[in-house]
Amino acid sequence: MSINPVRVRFAPSPTGIMHLGNVRAALINYLFARQKGGTFILRIEDTDTARNISHLSQKIIDDLAWLGLNYDEGPEKNGIYAPYYQSERTEIYKKHLKQLEDNHQVYRCFCTVEELEKKRQRQIALKQPPRYDRTCANLTHDQIAQKLNDKIPFIWRFKLDQTQKIHFYDLAHKEMYFDLANFADFPLTRQDGSFTFIFANFVDDMTMKISHVFRGEDHLTNTACQVALYNAFNAPVPVFWHLPIIGNAQGKKLSKRDFGFSLDDLKNAGFLPQAICNYLSIIGGSFEKEIMSLEELIRTLNFEAIASTSKIRYDTEKLKWVNHNWIKKMDPEDLLRSTRSLIEKEFAQSKLMKDSQLIELIKYIQPELFTLNDVPQLIKFYFFRPEINKEMLHEFNLEKLSLIIEEIEKNQKIKNSQELIETLIASAKLQQIPNKDLYHVIRLLLFGSSNGPSIKDLANLLGLKETKERLFVIRNYTS
Ligand code: GLU
Repeated sequence: MSINPVRVRFAPSPTGIMHLGNVRAALINYLFARQKGGTFILRIEDTDTARNISHLSQKIIDDLAWLGLNYDEGPEKNGIYAPYYQSERTEIYKKHLKQLEDNHQVYRCFCTVEELEKKRQRQIALKQPPRYDRTCANLTHDQIAQKLNDKIPFIWRFKLDQTQKIHFYDLAHKEMYFDLANFADFPLTRQDGSFTFIFANFVDDMTMKISHVFRGEDHLTNTACQVALYNAFNAPVPVFWHLPIIGNAQGKKLSKRDFGFSLDDLKNAGFLPQAICNYLSIIGGSFEKEIMSLEELIRTLNFEAIASTSKIRYDTEKLKWVNHNWIKKMDPEDLLRSTRSLIEKEFAQSKLMKDSQLIELIKYIQPELFTLNDVPQLIKFYFFRPEINKEMLHEFNLEKLSLIIEEIEKNQKIKNSQELIETLIASAKLQQIPNKDLYHVIRLLLFGSSNGPSIKDLANLLGLKETKERLFVIRNYTS
């Protein structure tokens, strides 16, 4: 039985930073909803009140907006299944728990944490799989009444039918079966009366009529328990996709120590939202055309094809390449808007410059950028003369080069920096100086590095006087 129409959700817990696994889950859900003409829902799973901080919920909302992943139902937007904060849905969970209680599908467990731990140790020693031994499932009415009277704290456990097998469909793993004989009666509440992740998350998905649940592979066993709950309510089971965990370059689970673990890392390092979404959509797959906007991804992604169980490796070099492509496409005005504060922080003089002047400058280095943070390094040449040393020039015939540069000083006909460069190219030809050497040295003298904008662009930006002065530095290196 499948659920129609398509309704998917991103359900983060506001307990910390948004890491790339979260971003990918949000993105996949968003793209799927848009492609299928469905609804994308944001639900904040803030039941773990001790660890949740409301500003972190706001941060999730802001991060999604920054990424361009707009949701249709959720905080600040509402929708027919509101509220979208789990902390405001307690009555709904209570009602569903009551239903299970009325059907005798749950029982109170009064075992203390210490008792449970002892049982666990004993089972491990006996080489049995550690799992709750159902002591409290067998309590009589009177025993329960007595314990309640004594105010002994308890939790509710779901009574599994261990003779049954659980079945669900997963886009990556295909038909999945779990033998409930291997599962314990899992808790639905905590001792403080709050609801567990498994239960609250299930009630929400069921009541919000979620048709597809796409989330990290680490939830696979939770899914088995939750499908047992769907069955208990006789409710249609969504289709699942357990997204592979993203691994670092060494193939280990991505951790805080890896660069680019969190969205903030990437944001602060000058990555564009378009590039992050693009990269995380194509990661692990193979695509003829790799640079795609959200609209193109919505049009072209084949979810059955990209869903695989193979490990996904996070490759920051590839991400940089994707970012490079997105920066190249940027409108220079937007590029300046995004980097003006970086530029001003690095070069105080730039505060006095007009937008148009700075745009003129960054336009030339735009094709060289891999991240927005590369901007200061690449325009530094404009504000500071490069530091040249002998080592940088040792492989060139400086005598010949300085000869043609000296000629410029005497040449009255040169009116602008373009003519200057053309004159140099012509004289180099006469002197049989290889073009590549000429360009290399000029770029070093004007820019400080052998890669970068073309020498004509550099000269253009610096103007005739400054270009000449930088070129004349070569005198210091000829005897
Ligand atoms: N709050 C859970 C998490 O962040 C949600 C998992 C899910 O999507 O069901 O891992």
